Amino acid sequence: MRKKIVAGNWKMNLGFSQANALVHEVLHSQVVLPENTLVIFAPPFPYLQSVQAVLIGHPGFHIAAQNCHEQESGAYTGEVSASMLQSIGVGYVILGHSERRQYFGETNAQVARKARRALASGIRPICCCGETLEIRQAGRQQDQVHQQLEESLGEFTPDQAAVLVIAYEPVWAIGTGLNASAPQAQEMHAFIRQWLQSRFGREISEGVSILYGGSCKPSNAPELFACPDVDGGLIGGASLVAGDFLKIIRSF
Ligand code: PEP
Repeated sequence: MRKKIVAGNWKMNLGFSQANALVHEVLHSQVVLPENTLVIFAPPFPYLQSVQAVLIGHPGFHIAAQNCHEQESGAYTGEVSASMLQSIGVGYVILGHSERRQYFGETNAQVARKARRALASGIRPICCCGETLEIRQAGRQQDQVHQQLEESLGEFTPDQAAVLVIAYEPVWAIGTGLNASAPQAQEMHAFIRQWLQSRFGREISEGVSILYGGSCKPSNAPELFACPDVDGGLIGGASLVAGDFLKIIRSF
């Protein structure tokens, strides 16, 4: 059975003490995670270890990095490698977020290289895809997502594909307050699962968790998470407020 996941992408937000307070508040709420459910915090790099330390003894809670470099090591000032993340116990890494594509020019080919590097270090990539507003308005959203999937994940082996997490995040919904409707999300998630099946077979396609991201909040999470192919959410703004994040976790 595939995992249900709620992942909080903090982006470049929160001071150190706020970050710790947020994690403590979530953990002290005594939230009971349903079986087969994971909660992932993706803090900025400098907080990974301290958040990780707080999570010890809380099964089902994990940390993710928000990015990694595609090389193993070397003269890449300011960058962080997957093996460095692995060495401090990071289990997941978000790759190909639309903000990295938009502000840092990240391409599908780079996402593929980063994901392979992460996998080689034993880190599960949370690979993001999603169409822009113009593309959605032109009705070509499946074409764009198909191209992203092909170019970033198409060369994976079935074993590599089996440990991926995919996040469908329509760019027009990220941080805008506008979310995809449940039917829009379900349609795209089913399309992504169909792509996984055509590439890697039915067993793998049924095992990969596909998360929805884009203005997911307590008011819309229950409807979105009730869709058969939506296995949880990648949450930006609402993950910065413990009460909202908890309500989203409880939406399952
Ligand atoms: C995100 O950046 O991954 C995201 C989904 O942001 P928000 O929830 O704020 O739209």
